[in-house]
Amino acid sequence: MQEILTCLREGHDAELLALAGFVCIVGVYGSFSVSHHAWRAEGRLRTRLVLMSLVAAGSTAWATHMIAMLAYKPGMPAGFEPVLTAISLLIGTLGIGLGMAISAGRRSRLRRLGGGLVLGIGTILLHYLGQYAFLVRGRIEWDPTLVTVSIVASLPIFALSMMMAGERNRSFRPFGAPLLVLAIAILHVSGMAALRLTYDPYVLFPPLTIEPQLLAPIVAAVCLGLFAVSLFGLRLTLKARAKLVEDQQRLGELANLAFEGLAVCGKGVVLSANEELSRLTGKPRDMLVGQTISSLLSGLSLADITEGEEMDAELSGDAPDLVPVRVLRREFKLGGTSQTVIAFRDQRERLRTEEKIRTLAYSDTLTGLANRERFNLALDKAVVLFESSQTPFTALLIDLDGFKLVNDTQGHSGGDEVLKIVADRLRAALAEEPDHDLARLSGDEFAVLIGGTNDPVHASAIGERIIRSIKEPLALRGQTVHISASVGIAAVDERYASAEQVFRNADLALYDAKMKGRSRVSVFSQVLRNAANDKANTAIELQEAFEDGDLELYYQPQIRLSDGALVGAEALIRWNYPYRGVLSPGLFLPVLEAGPLAEPVGTWILATACQQAARWRAAGAEDFQIGVNLFAAQLRSREFASLVQATLDSCSLPPEALELEVTENIILRNEAATIARLAELRDLGIGIAFDDFGTGYASLTMLKEIPITRLKIDRSFVRNIENDRKDQAIVDAISRMAAGCGLDVIAEGIETPEQADFMKSHASEAQGFLYGRPMTASAFEAKYGLAASAAVA
Ligand code: C2E
Ligand code: CA
Ligand code: CA
Repeated sequence: MQEILTCLREGHDAELLALAGFVCIVGVYGSFSVSHHAWRAEGRLRTRLVLMSLVAAGSTAWATHMIAMLAYKPGMPAGFEPVLTAISLLIGTLGIGLGMAISAGRRSRLRRLGGGLVLGIGTILLHYLGQYAFLVRGRIEWDPTLVTVSIVASLPIFALSMMMAGERNRSFRPFGAPLLVLAIAILHVSGMAALRLTYDPYVLFPPLTIEPQLLAPIVAAVCLGLFAVSLFGLRLTLKARAKLVEDQQRLGELANLAFEGLAVCGKGVVLSANEELSRLTGKPRDMLVGQTISSLLSGLSLADITEGEEMDAELSGDAPDLVPVRVLRREFKLGGTSQTVIAFRDQRERLRTEEKIRTLAYSDTLTGLANRERFNLALDKAVVLFESSQTPFTALLIDLDGFKLVNDTQGHSGGDEVLKIVADRLRAALAEEPDHDLARLSGDEFAVLIGGTNDPVHASAIGERIIRSIKEPLALRGQTVHISASVGIAAVDERYASAEQVFRNADLALYDAKMKGRSRVSVFSQVLRNAANDKANTAIELQEAFEDGDLELYYQPQIRLSDGALVGAEALIRWNYPYRGVLSPGLFLPVLEAGPLAEPVGTWILATACQQAARWRAAGAEDFQIGVNLFAAQLRSREFASLVQATLDSCSLPPEALELEVTENIILRNEAATIARLAELRDLGIGIAFDDFGTGYASLTMLKEIPITRLKIDRSFVRNIENDRKDQAIVDAISRMAAGCGLDVIAEGIETPEQADFMKSHASEAQGFLYGRPMTASAFEAKYGLAASAAVA
């Protein structure tokens, strides 16, 4: 240590030594700064800058070394051996260049340490080769300890300096250059201190020895070059800074044009923000600067936002409400430094539209009530609640009675008006129910879901209230319109716990209410379910029976009252049920009528009855007439008249041999189209009988409208005809009216000769057990001598 200090104090020219330090600092700064820019540049410029920084680094080391050598005062004549000096310069530059190439711009610290070691070794070689080339008039001895010290002490500092110079952290990076200078200083001073010189006038310099004074201009030239490089590095830095500022400014202007809110951030803090973000938050831009991202995004930190993935967040600002936004994070490079940009996209408009679409999708545009989808959702929710906490609920299905008539008479717009009024009345009727959902399912069908109850009494009371409110006459375009409603009710229970089951049960109850005469409430019960299941089974069995030929027609004779002669028969359907015997229509007709079999079975009945009539006509009963009962479904088909004509043609039966029997129900169910169809049939010459006449309430008005040929007086008027004066009066009135309208009359259900006697003056023909029960075709033939031998060809 003592030697080092002595060497520094006495062995050197202080001014030159300071110059060496200065040149070293300037050179190191210059080469570092050029190399820094080199790694950001591209292409040829990059190669050029890299080379420049390498040469500068090598030259710095050499020039520093040389000036320091010049500063060295050996106290005797000295000089430089030129070849070795040149080699020292070459090897030093190569080593230093290699070290810089290894470490410059590298991310790995280890790699930079390695580069620093190489650079250190290069510098050490430069120094000691150079020192070896230093000659004096005297003997030179080396102190190996000091040499070792110089190497061991400087090498780690060289490595450390390169590691620091490449740090990403700006506060570490500036330590790189001073550390390098320090390492060089330690190496030089302790290296020089290792020399022990003894003057010996007999020592001669080799012939090409360069005198120190001769080197001075070369060193000065190199130093000038180094200054130029430093200035160049400085210029690069200033230019890059200016560009960064300009880029940032331009980016800021562009950002203000953006539709999204943008914030440039550093370490989770807003560095700058655009106009849109200021608008979104309601805060001026300069107030946004310095705010943390987590304060803007209510708790969401920058680390929570993954780059390139959009995510939902809420932006807090001046307004009390948070603004829903989608945020997107992008990292990008600006002037070589990487920046984080957060984009905020306003979601309010989108959410509003979505909400609008959702309400549109879930509501009935006509009445503003919920629609079927929403009702189903409510039902599903109620089921989940029932499953989790046994909270019950009840469903009410409401169907308007006679709405079709309103639609037909008032037109669609009138119908719509009525539906709106009904919706309002339903709302009012349910106003006091705390937990309910009201919906229009379709057409004139509404539904209510009552939460928290499965009490049938409570639900029935609601149903009654609904019916009462709908029954109130309503004014429509100056007219008074009457409608009513039927209500079916079903509650959830263990057995029927799914939305679908509850709905189906309510529907069953509604059907029951309709069947029982409308404008009433029916509550679902197991009896209804059983009956429905029976019906379903019957429908399946009927299908099989039809396919298997188990359906058969029976015939009941029709008699002329004046002389008791056979004039025809009514065909009546029977089901030859295996093991159970012959089933009367009362047991299966409701199912048959309501199902898809009505049409095919009706067609089969018509064909079978017509063939039978044709056969019996051919067998002797010349004017034989066959009566066939119709199903509503048959009259609904447009081709019905032509089907009937084709049937008659196929068995060569004249139209007057066929009489189709229709009831009031059938006509009411089909309305306008049915009347037109019956007229077509009438035009073909086919008879139309009004069955069960007098039992319905519209019989009289219908007489005027439908083309009938005959009235069948219902059995109910005949039963007590001998004693009941009212029945006598009714039958008397019917027969007078028929005479007035030019219609024939046939009496049904004649069981006694007395009934027959009474009817003689009121009807021309009769039918009943007195003359014969419905019987098979063969029994009929046997009874009336219509032997098969005379059958049609
Ligand atoms: P409906 O058309 O009024 O048929 C007359 C019903 O009265 C028959 O019952 C018949 O057996 C019964 N009847 C006849 N005379 C007497 C009598 O003196 N006293 C009593 N107590 N009853 C008598 P059925 O055959 O059970 O038919 C019942 C109903 O089923 C029929 O009433 C008709 O509406 C319907 N129906 C029967 N067969 C067919 C058919 O082939 N097609 C259609 N569409 N309906 C049918
Ligand atoms: Ca009949
Ligand atoms: Ca009848």
